[in-house]
Amino acid sequence: MNLNPLSCQELVELVTQYLEGVMPEEDRARFENHLSRCHGCTTYVNQMRHTIEITGKLSEETIDPEAKDQLLALFRNWKKS
Ligand SMILES: [Zn+2]
Repeated sequence: MNLNPLSCQELVELVTQYLEGVMPEEDRARFENHLSRCHGCTTYVNQMRHTIEITGKLSEETIDPEAKDQLLALFRNWKKS
């Protein structure tokens, strides 16, 4: 099985699936593989997990679109350096 590496952007798009536990096993392996190598995404997932603990649920609406854009901009800068 050839696992394509997940980009940071893809990971951010998939985080709700991951945290809701509805992600297919194969995607989950790619997701966790990325997390093991990417500090920024680990931080993001931890923040989302914390958000779920506070709100009791997670949906696209609970993710501030501006915060998400800022995060993705950060990722792009990290990759440049
Ligand atoms: Zn990442």
